[in-house]
Amino acid sequence: MVGSFYVDDLSKHFGGFKRGYSESDFILFGVPFDSTSSFRPGSRFGPAAIREASANIETWSWRTGMDFEEVKLHDLGDLAVVHGDAAETVRRVKETTEDIILSKKIPVMLGGEHIITLGALRGFKDAAVVSFDAHFDMRDEYLSNKLSHACVMRRALEELGVKNVVIVGARASYRDEIEFLKKSGVNYISSQQIMRVGAKEAGAWLKKILADSKKVYISVDMDVLDPAFAPGVGNPEPEGITTSTLLDLIEEVIDDRIAGFDVVEVSPAYDSGATAVTASKIIYEICCMAAKSIGL
Ligand code: MN
Ligand code: MN
Repeated sequence: MVGSFYVDDLSKHFGGFKRGYSESDFILFGVPFDSTSSFRPGSRFGPAAIREASANIETWSWRTGMDFEEVKLHDLGDLAVVHGDAAETVRRVKETTEDIILSKKIPVMLGGEHIITLGALRGFKDAAVVSFDAHFDMRDEYLSNKLSHACVMRRALEELGVKNVVIVGARASYRDEIEFLKKSGVNYISSQQIMRVGAKEAGAWLKKILADSKKVYISVDMDVLDPAFAPGVGNPEPEGITTSTLLDLIEEVIDDRIAGFDVVEVSPAYDSGATAVTASKIIYEICCMAAKSIGL
């Protein structure tokens, strides 16, 4: 019979399953935007690659003793972005984030390049951000553009204050930025320091910084990982941390204040497939950790 072997294309839904909006705790959406990418473009194809990978990996989380399929997540699909217009894209991300928060759910965003995180942070207004990134993204402007992915944490710093921005795993910078970091007192820990002291001690440092924050937003720029683990990114940078170290750190930092998170900068054209799978795994694990911490 025609159609007997037809399956709905669940690879278009994150995790390979469909769940309704109202019954869900997490609301995922993709932002296929890469207009300010400074080196290797293509992260606009990130959400589709991550979804496809997510539908093809196993769902048990050994870290939390949960199955990702127990996590109540709804996939909204992709935001309609305006290529070349970062301001409008950031505005749409902000509105989407606000809608999700209004319905008392947790936003999960798939990038796309890192500037989109600014929209999510504007949606929250008062969340502290932990940016796992090889880069500080603290340039005042990049090629005369203040809304470049290289400036996202500078804008966050201006809007949220120095207490509410932490950079974890950084190792790529230049003199002016380092001087700015010193002058402004931004909290950061390099990948080399993390590897020296281990995730437990680095996590304790991070927890202390976040002690007074009411809400915590996590942003994972996939280039925080060593290119050996995540080759398919826009700006690969050697001496990164491992996937396990990243998840150990996130595990240390997640508690019931987790407000939302994103995973950005996957550029599938440069990927072996490993980066998209790893991004999916990170999302699975963060959702399980958050669900467990909040008691969902
Ligand atoms: Mn970044
Ligand atoms: Mn980066």
